[in-house]
Amino acid sequence: MSATRIDGKAFAARLRERVGEHALEFASLAGRKPGLAVVLVGEDPASQVYVGSKGKATVAANMESFEHRLPAETSEADLLALVERLNNDQAVDGILVQLPLPVHLDEQSIIASISPDKDVDGFHVINAGRLSVGQSGFVPCTPLGCMMLLTDRLGDLSGLEAVVIGRSNIVGKPMAQLLVDANATVTIAHSRTKDLPAVVKRADIVVAAVGRPEMIRKAWLKDGATVIDVGINRLPPEPGKEKGKLVGDVAFEEASEVASAITPVPGGVGPMTIAVLLRNTLVAAYRNAGFDAPEGL
Ligand code: NDP
Repeated sequence: MSATRIDGKAFAARLRERVGEHALEFASLAGRKPGLAVVLVGEDPASQVYVGSKGKATVAANMESFEHRLPAETSEADLLALVERLNNDQAVDGILVQLPLPVHLDEQSIIASISPDKDVDGFHVINAGRLSVGQSGFVPCTPLGCMMLLTDRLGDLSGLEAVVIGRSNIVGKPMAQLLVDANATVTIAHSRTKDLPAVVKRADIVVAAVGRPEMIRKAWLKDGATVIDVGINRLPPEPGKEKGKLVGDVAFEEASEVASAITPVPGGVGPMTIAVLLRNTLVAAYRNAGFDAPEGL
């Protein structure tokens, strides 16, 4: 068997387009564009690239982008004061504080200071709680993007065996919750799981969010499994090359021989994250302005 390659890049492009169209409708209803504020503290090169691409994608989706780039030595009090200003700013629907923050800043306190109704990353404990009890809030972008790819591919997930490898608050745990809510039978595996290959072998759906290059092998997978690879790992550069290759947590080529469908890295889950961030911002805008959010996003 040769697996279908799940094209997250194309799916994300279509989602961004739909979001952009709804953003225009929102603007005609509300008399302003949806707005996303992104806060970057310090000069981490990867974060600078992410923030730049989020800003461009926001503008391309007919939304207002507010970028706040603060020096690495910014105090917690100053950062909290900025978040408070953004919480009270009617033009701002979504607030994202780019992580990781410099070590002198406490990430949990900063996330806790964001209004849950503007927490488009879905990291606030209120939104984690809403997800866990089935209330509408904001779901972290990466797992929600994975879920969109899965339901697009498989339709109804009822009764399917799903194994999520990884239990972080931003990927593994919310992913497992979404799968349970979709009536899958879910196992969460992690570094203490015994005989991980045997656990994975049961799965109709495998979501790998580990951060270990090509850890999941062909022999671990059930025939016909659907594999979502969240991992982004850079291999050491080959001789003469400046940068190493990007790979996922799954050995893509060999896994493709047994899976029925699999996301590539890059071009699978990665592009979904920004697209869902824009989707969440649009939903925040509708809710904050007192309208029902559009269906089917
Ligand atoms: P974390 O490091 O927070 O979590 C990793 C999880 O993997 C932990 O639960 C850990 O277990 C588990 N783990 C580590 N080693 C093993 C092992 N040998 N066997 C089984 N489980 C193991 O990572 P994140 O959840 O933040 O991210 C995971 C990956 O996804 C990373 O590669 C990251 O770059 C990528 N990512 C990609 C995104 C995208 O947009 N595509 C967005 C976010 C993340 P334990 O809890 O026991 O330590």
